[in-house]
Amino acid sequence: MIIKHLPPIFEPARPVLQKIEEAGFEAYFVGGCVRDTILGDSIHDIDIATSAYPSEIKAIFNRTVDTGIEHGTVMILDHGTGYETTTFRTESGYQDFRRPDKVTFVRSLSEDLKRRDFTINALALKENGEVIDLFNGLDDLKHHLIKAVGDPNERFHEDALRMMRAVRFASKLDFVIATKTLNGIKQNAPLLDKIAVERIRVEFENLLLGQNPVAGLNDFLQTGLYQYCPGLSGQKEKLSGLLLLNNWQLQNNEQAWATLVTQLGLSLQESGKFLRRWKTSNELITNVKKMLPVIAGLRTSDLSPLTLFKAGKKAVQDANQVAKLYGWAIPDEQLMKQYDLLPIKSGKELAVNGGVLISNAGVKPGPLLGKIIRKLTVQVVNGELPNDREALINEAEKLKKEG
Ligand code: ATP
Ligand code: MG
Repeated sequence: MIIKHLPPIFEPARPVLQKIEEAGFEAYFVGGCVRDTILGDSIHDIDIATSAYPSEIKAIFNRTVDTGIEHGTVMILDHGTGYETTTFRTESGYQDFRRPDKVTFVRSLSEDLKRRDFTINALALKENGEVIDLFNGLDDLKHHLIKAVGDPNERFHEDALRMMRAVRFASKLDFVIATKTLNGIKQNAPLLDKIAVERIRVEFENLLLGQNPVAGLNDFLQTGLYQYCPGLSGQKEKLSGLLLLNNWQLQNNEQAWATLVTQLGLSLQESGKFLRRWKTSNELITNVKKMLPVIAGLRTSDLSPLTLFKAGKKAVQDANQVAKLYGWAIPDEQLMKQYDLLPIKSGKELAVNGGVLISNAGVKPGPLLGKIIRKLTVQVVNGELPNDREALINEAEKLKKEG
């Protein structure tokens, strides 16, 4: 196969490949960028593989950076955008089901393609548009199949993360996992235990944000992979509920995780624990926790101004996106109107602050001051008090007397 017109993103990288070839080595575009070009999908980054060793690449170009030289990766800066090239390599060992014990640089493209996970990810593209397809990847692309390169059993033994990658690609590309490959996952699912949770998480998030999450989730459940993920073991029934949701259109990780904890029926506190087990960032946990009361309010149609206020705009929007999945959402514009009608959007907008209350309402610094400010905030948000300096000082004096 020859691709006559490469997408524009390849154009500025072609001179890099040409220069490597002129020096007597081979160079190809590889991996996701080739697959996505043939599918006509958008391409976000370009990977280049070469027969030249890192030292040889560094001799060909003027400006390079050793970004991962022990794996054979060098960044070339001569042509504007930095392009990373990786020397063809084989991997061996895999004693721990995750990382190769040894990486060996090789001169042969076929050796390099052989170590790749799926046939659709093992295509190489020459600078002139010629596609090299040693494992029938083009056919599998055409039939929307995810098929391991070589023996699935062996490949998942070498690196158990590939099983999560398979279900992730099933969702991302809306492809079907080939039968033998699927059976390989079923047999080896327990090996997922050996993989760092952070790496599983990235694949799982991509699954939830893919084109067809139901397909990916279905494979994730049927193969038993879910049993080796934090907090999901024994939850097949609840998780299967996700397969009944249509209209998936989640846009970010916050929405993805909020959907999951909603589906699992976790409390606010349990959600925090669950997410910590997945080693998500504290920021993500905070954001998801802001969303959950909004989702609950949408679900029971009693969304209070205070709930909207506490969540903040972003969490309100994210929550509605999750609620859409369940049919609990209200139109975005309507929800935003409700939000915009809040008298204040943050504590900073309150017409008084601690200093003002100390000098004008005679409140002493301390816990009571904090309590009064919170009370005033709630009253203003609820429309029970105007956000007016005098009115708030008067109310503060009253609250102070009441203690
Ligand atoms: P995406 O568009 O989601 O980035 P991708 O195919 O580019 O998809 P990457 O994770 O960026 O995926 O990996 C780049 C390439 O490296 C893959 O296409 C595949 O050939 C190879 N690869 C990545 N991870 C593995 C793995 N665990 N085992 C074997 N090959 C892998
Ligand atoms: Mg990629």
